[in-house]
Order: sequence, then structure tokens, then C-alpha cells
Amino acid sequence: MAEPRAFDIAIVGAGPAGLTAALYAGRNREHAVLLENKGPGGQLLNTELVEDYPGIKSILGVDLALAMTDQALSFGTEMVSADVSRIHVGAHHEPKVIETTQGTFTAPAVILTAGGNPRKLEVPGEVEFAGRGVSYCAVCDGAFFKGVHLAVVGGGDAAVEEAVFLTRYASKVTIIHRRERFRAQQLLLDTARRNEKIAWVTNAVVEGIDGDESVQRLALRDVVSGARSTLDVGGVFIFVGFIPNTGLVDTHIDHDAAGYYITDAMTMMTSVPGIFAAGDVRSQLTRQITTAVGDATTATIAAAKWVEEWKRGLDETSDELVHDVVSGAV
Ligand code: NAP
Repeated sequence: MAEPRAFDIAIVGAGPAGLTAALYAGRNREHAVLLENKGPGGQLLNTELVEDYPGIKSILGVDLALAMTDQALSFGTEMVSADVSRIHVGAHHEPKVIETTQGTFTAPAVILTAGGNPRKLEVPGEVEFAGRGVSYCAVCDGAFFKGVHLAVVGGGDAAVEEAVFLTRYASKVTIIHRRERFRAQQLLLDTARRNEKIAWVTNAVVEGIDGDESVQRLALRDVVSGARSTLDVGGVFIFVGFIPNTGLVDTHIDHDAAGYYITDAMTMMTSVPGIFAAGDVRSQLTRQITTAVGDATTATIAAAKWVEEWKRGLDETSDELVHDVVSGAV
């Protein structure tokens, strides 16, 4: 078996947060590795247009992913295409051990930037019709639905933004939301409301997805009146949030009720010394590309300082001091 490869900082996941961490680690000449299992870009690859990244008025998600990857790796951080299965946290004086499909890596500091996966509706038919009319990615699958009436489920930014995108192909897009009020940004809502192809069904939940070869109808329930109805559609795109990818570390890390890691605001360090979190795995008000890259910048600089102190041989009792050093208190 190959020897573990030793680094100072291991970055897990190459979405905008991971790529930013790789960029800053490389520019600061840290000995860092970026571990990614699906190809770099993260959620950018599921996003058609990005129009809220400062300095770039409008860019395809895939193009921004390519540009971020190119820039990040140009400063020397190594990217390894590997699936991380477990991160072991040992004693304070030991580096963390990261098991992957490409062997074992060690690093005293780990920056978790592994994003998340789409939350499922968990209704009958969802699994059966996955890939046959049930989708979680408009950019990936939208073009298969030319001239078809589609449903979009959800009331957040993703649902409203992707519904607008799907009107390029669909004859009609019905947004189904379980409440009257949407949590999507007003700008996105205004754009969707101006789009004549979009219809709205609020206070309704999807109870089932049905069809034969592919999706043909949804079973709906009005949550106010309790009335049941069906909606004939040729496909349903589900955008009901994310489940953060937080199951990799073998010890407890403090998290919020939805499972997102709670970090120190100054350093992005989690409750486990030497483990930092940035991007969609972190508990915060909103999850934007801009917040992901900001978090990751902080996390990387803090992680580098933490490693410096760790190398100076601080013992377990000095975690507080390490934190103070990282946060600039001493
Ligand atoms: P989100 O903001 O968590 O919204 C999820 C939506 O799904 C909510 O409206 C929620 O309803 C609904 N929902 C959750 N579980 C449901 C269920 N079981 N059945 C029916 N509806 C359900 O998730 P998101 O839209 O994927 O966005 C994730 C993050 O990415 C957010 O921070 C968002 O701001 C960000 N984002 C930003 C942009 C952008 O800036 N352009 C684009 C996409 C995503 P309730 O409202 O009733 O809870």
C-alpha cells in the first residue's frame, strides 16, 4: 500500500469555496492539496448564468468554473481527483488523516468545502421517475423538455431562477410552493412574475409523481383547504434546498439544526481545532458564490496561521492560544 502523502492543508471539495482556498493557499506558498471527486466547479456546473459575481456582469456557470480552476491551480496547489471517504481526527499533535479513493493524505489543517446535494421531496414516484422526468438540475436536463409543460417545486432562489431558465424550452412552467410567501430574492421573483410562461401554485404540496414511461402528472394537496388535485406535466424539477455534505469527519463537529457547520466568524474554524469550513457546508444567512469565496479566503489564511502554530508544537492545552493567534488577539 502506498505511503500517505503529507500536506499542511487539505481542501475537500472544489466548488467556488474550494477553488478559492486553493488559490490563496497556492499564492501563499502553502503545501496544500485540493481533493475533488466530480471535476471542479461545484454548483457552478449546475448554474446557467452567473450575474451576481462582482466585476463580471454575466458569465456562464461553466465558464466561471473553468476560469476559477485555471487561476487556482496556476499558483501551485495540487488538485487530486479523488473521492474522500473519511477524515480521521486524532490527537492534537497528529495531523488529520484523509482516506480517499486515491490513497491516504495527511494534513494538520483541513478546509471542508464539500458543498451539498439536492434535498429530495421524498414522495412516491420521485425515485422511480428519476431521470425519466424528475430532475434536480435545469442546466443539465432542461433541453430535453422542449415544448413540454414542466413543474418546478420550491420557493427559494434556485426554484425561481431555474424556473425562468426552463421557460427557454418548456411551453409552460408551473412553480409549486408550499407557502404563500417566497424566500427567493425579490429581483428573481420580479423577473419570474414578468415571464408569461410561468404559472404559480402556492400553498400546495406535491404528494406524488405519476406516469408511465416518464412523468405525466403530479398529485397536489392544497395545504389550506386540504383539497386534492392533479397537474398534468411532462417533467418536474425539484429545488427544495440542499443537504450539506457533512458526514466525512469521524468526530462530532458543532452544527445547526439543518446540519450546517457552525464556525467561528473570525477564522471559519469549526468546533474541532484545525478543521475549517467554507461555502455551502457552513451555517450562514445566505449561500452565494460571493459568500463562499469570502469564507474560503478567511479559512485559508486562518488555516495557514493555525498550521504555523501547530508546527511550533503547541500542546493540546493551547488551543485557546492558537485561536487567539489566528484571530489576531495576541
Ligand atoms: P432554500 O433557499 O433553502 O429554499 C428551499 C425552498 O424549498 C424553500 O422555499 C422551502 O420552503 C422549500 N422546501 C423545502 N423543503 C420542502 C419540501 N419538503 N416540500 C416542499 N418545499 C420544500 O434552497 P435553494 O433555493 O436551493 O437555495 C440554497 C442557497 O443557495 C440559498 O442560500 C440561496 O440564496 C442560494 N442560491 C442563490 C442563488 C442566486 O443568488 N442567484 C441561486 C440559487 C441558490 P419554505 O420557504 O416554506 O421553507
